[in-house]
Amino acid sequence: MTLTSSIPVKRTTQSRLSTVDFSNLGFGNYISDHMLVAKYDKGTWQDPQIIPYGDLMMSPAMLSLHYGQAVFEGMKAFHMKDGGINVFRVERHHKRLNRSLERMCMPAISEELFVNGLEAIVKTDADWIPKDNGSSLYLRPVVFASEAKLGVKVADQYLFVILTSPVGPYFSKPVRLKVELDYVRAAEGGTGFAKCAGNYGGAFYPTQQAREQGFDQVIWTDAKEHKYIDESGAMNIMFVLDNKLVTPALSSSILDGVTRNTIITLAKDMGVTVEERKISIEEIEKSFKNKTLTEAFGAGTAAVVSPIATININGMDYHLPEVKADSFQLRVKNKLGEIRSGAAPDTYNWNHVIK
Ligand SMILES: *Cc1c(COP(=O)(O)O)cnc(C)c1O
Repeated sequence: MTLTSSIPVKRTTQSRLSTVDFSNLGFGNYISDHMLVAKYDKGTWQDPQIIPYGDLMMSPAMLSLHYGQAVFEGMKAFHMKDGGINVFRVERHHKRLNRSLERMCMPAISEELFVNGLEAIVKTDADWIPKDNGSSLYLRPVVFASEAKLGVKVADQYLFVILTSPVGPYFSKPVRLKVELDYVRAAEGGTGFAKCAGNYGGAFYPTQQAREQGFDQVIWTDAKEHKYIDESGAMNIMFVLDNKLVTPALSSSILDGVTRNTIITLAKDMGVTVEERKISIEEIEKSFKNKTLTEAFGAGTAAVVSPIATININGMDYHLPEVKADSFQLRVKNKLGEIRSGAAPDTYNWNHVIK
């Protein structure tokens, strides 16, 4: 018998499903009835199990609290047209999880544990998957150091947990973003490419300031010169410039988004020229002025494609035209939706279908 060939399931006796308002989900407001928990100790992952969602016992000396060894992923599960359940691009999320774990000196998770764990939790809480178009079950794998010790060191004990949450759209309308020219999210050589907890804690303060100024999020720029665009809060940034799809090239300070990769792949299939390269703020300002910049949007699992209404550069608001039905972002979003639902062929084997 392998590690995960049969993950034991301990079901809750008090489901909270009836308390969910599926017509008004928001994002991250509900956590489903169950969770997957596995432990890492003595050099191996062990005892994966599904248990009712609830508090875990922990020591206040738990190393992740003090030294930040905590890494997560974010994925989505959907109902397909034919009744199957689709977890989108599992393989790529698994690879990225392990890249994040490696950067934080944390133990890798086997594909077997990751995939079987996801399948088990999604099957157990299948009733929590929303049926509405645009809604989904958000899957949140998280790994953190659980060892209790005060010394600064790489932990020897970890927990792997998968939580799930029925979610609706992330942003309800086109977003207003501020180009951040003072604070830094990530520097080259740092942890920006990893989905590790500290990146988000460090981003809160500048983001909060931007919110107080009336923006939804910031657009991060490079740490050295504040001259080039990196990405936004939990989205990669994409532009339609001169009818080409232009997005910052990946670097160690940018998260390698799965949605980014999906959109680039689909754009090429649609015959759109794609440029992954450095994009300076100056270029964006210029292309606003000469009207060659026709679309800007964020790309990420949570928001999928999130139209940008306004970009603020150095105190100046630049407005994007309204998103038209034949815009690139709507066409690519529809295409992506069709692939995920099974309405269009899944040429790249992106769908992980659970029967
Ligand atoms: C998760 C995330 C993204 C989007 O990645 P996806 O794989 O498309 O969900 C982009 N930037 C940051 C900082 C993120 O945390």
